[in-house]
Amino acid sequence: MKVLITENLRINLDSEMWECRHCDKVLISARDNYKRGLLVYNRDPREVHKPLLDPTKYTRTYSPDPDWCRLIEYYCPDCGTMMETEYLPPGHPPLRDIEFDIDAMKEQWKHREEVLVPPIGNEPPASKRRHTHNH
Ligand SMILES: [Zn+2]
Repeated sequence: MKVLITENLRINLDSEMWECRHCDKVLISARDNYKRGLLVYNRDPREVHKPLLDPTKYTRTYSPDPDWCRLIEYYCPDCGTMMETEYLPPGHPPLRDIEFDIDAMKEQWKHREEVLVPPIGNEPPASKRRHTHNH
């Protein structure tokens, strides 16, 4: 059973591993931070947020100071899809923004059908166990 988590990530509940949804690459244990299974680009934020003022004339240019702020980009090590970005102080470990109780998730999905394609629109996915009243 694979459970879709984000547009790029899913969890395989049988193997308890994070997987890339684009290339099926097995990344890291689902009990760990998925970012530890990805490639990291520690980027100078000035590359993205260009100075609005001439840096030769001004010390403050409305662009992030790379000594205080880094742009961290995470990529799938197999297909290269950008999975996530975050702004962190230099040297800060990756934030853990997704953490599930895998045992509870297994119990929750035990009787559900696997969702291979996320539903689009307002209607929830069709269920075989739909509760109906015939009166
Ligand atoms: Zn991939």
